[in-house]
Amino acid sequence: GMKQRLLVVANRLPVSANRRGEDQWSLEISAGGLVSALLGVKDVDAKWIGWAGVNVPDEVGQRALTRTLAEKRCIPVFLDEEIVHQYYNGYCNNILWPLFHYLGLPQEDRLATTRNFESQFNAYKRANQMFADVVYQNYQEGDVIWCHDYHLMFMPKCLKDHDINMKVGWFLHTPFPSSEIYRTLPSRSELLRSVLCADLVGFHTYDYARHFVSACTRILGLEGTHEGVEDQGRLTRVAAFPIGIDSERFKRALELTAVKRHINELTHRFAGRKVMLGVDRLDMIKGIPQKILAFEKFLEENPDWNDKVVLLQIAVPTRTDVPEYQKLTSQVHEIVGRINGRFGTLTAVPIHHLDRSLDFHALCALYAVTDVALVTSLRDGMNLVSYEYVACQGSRKGVLILSEFAGAAQSLGAGAILVNPWNITEVADSIRHALTMSSDEREKRHRHNYPHVTTHTAQDWAETFVCELNETVAEAQLRT
Ligand code: UDP
Repeated sequence: GMKQRLLVVANRLPVSANRRGEDQWSLEISAGGLVSALLGVKDVDAKWIGWAGVNVPDEVGQRALTRTLAEKRCIPVFLDEEIVHQYYNGYCNNILWPLFHYLGLPQEDRLATTRNFESQFNAYKRANQMFADVVYQNYQEGDVIWCHDYHLMFMPKCLKDHDINMKVGWFLHTPFPSSEIYRTLPSRSELLRSVLCADLVGFHTYDYARHFVSACTRILGLEGTHEGVEDQGRLTRVAAFPIGIDSERFKRALELTAVKRHINELTHRFAGRKVMLGVDRLDMIKGIPQKILAFEKFLEENPDWNDKVVLLQIAVPTRTDVPEYQKLTSQVHEIVGRINGRFGTLTAVPIHHLDRSLDFHALCALYAVTDVALVTSLRDGMNLVSYEYVACQGSRKGVLILSEFAGAAQSLGAGAILVNPWNITEVADSIRHALTMSSDEREKRHRHNYPHVTTHTAQDWAETFVCELNETVAEAQLRT
């Protein structure tokens, strides 16, 4: 029959737009996890609604961009600079992001944030309403609307106020913190009430879902059940849907001649040394300084390893205009410089630190030659790097050292060495354990994680969520 229509609403569209003339735009597709996840979902006809990442003040430009994006099944929401500043930089990135990752604000920013709170929250609601307006314009009866992430917590309410029969799902890609943290948010109740307007609310892990239900019971006084949250007989279904990756895409890449050549080059370059790898956005939540300090401790305690191991740290720049992130960058550079000065020789340094991103094929090659991957997030919704590493280790069967504070620890815990990233003694010991691990143990651990990563794919994740949303709505209709 007719395919079901799915409207995917996220802050950013999966494309970047560059203006080439008054009515000319060029598009660059970003192959993120969400994109490949939804491409793989059979039986739905998906469209994207979101911000294209550029300010387009003029109508000619807006109309041209709308036409160009339509070819990619994308529909733009136009946000002006002021609202981007208040909603995106302000409320989303300075308030919700740190709060959801248990990060305090720097002391000097704390009062300013408190003072700006209300105007930023108002901008957040206005922005969410602008996304919702675009949904109304494109909605047809029976469509499923799937809202994504902390940017759009106010949308379920906007949508249901407009049309109570819309099928609305919301999924959070970050952790949802303990209610003891969440309840410090001035807009705590309004946001929860809005999210509860959705039919289905999803999180990466069972713990995040439990935290959300606790916040609703403690802050709103509602009843939490094992199904979700109940309010005067109406149920909002709450559940865990751990995301996965498109593992086939990684396995296919490893078969390409160019990637194989790259793997050979890397193998030669680091011959005689074990390769350790970190791949992170340069964000506070990733625990990069902690990781490097643990590596230093390992070198200190194991001088026989000094010229036999190298740490490659890919630190993808993010939010480079924000002072706190600039501070993190120089802090990391300082530690790396000190360690390389201390343990380097005329011909080799222990840490290669790169402040840039890699293209997909270079990243796959790097994953494939790595003996030990180090993920030390202080908090992380899921952490897909750990999944991607495992997917690329079909032949080497390397070791994953993984923070217990990453959502991925819930699914890859059996095969990884789990660590508390704040305990650098423990991490240093784990590095030693990983580097000296018998091939028997490595294979045993790999046998836990590899099948998980290849069977719990991004496509399954998206399909399960949409299916569950349809069922939840159908059950609710039976009850009334
Ligand atoms: N990544 C990338 N280019 C790079 C390094 C990483 O595209 O140079 C990708 C990586 O493959 C992964 C994503 O960035 O899919 C990072 O996702 P993760 O869940 O680990 O962390 P996030 O950045 O979303 O917090």
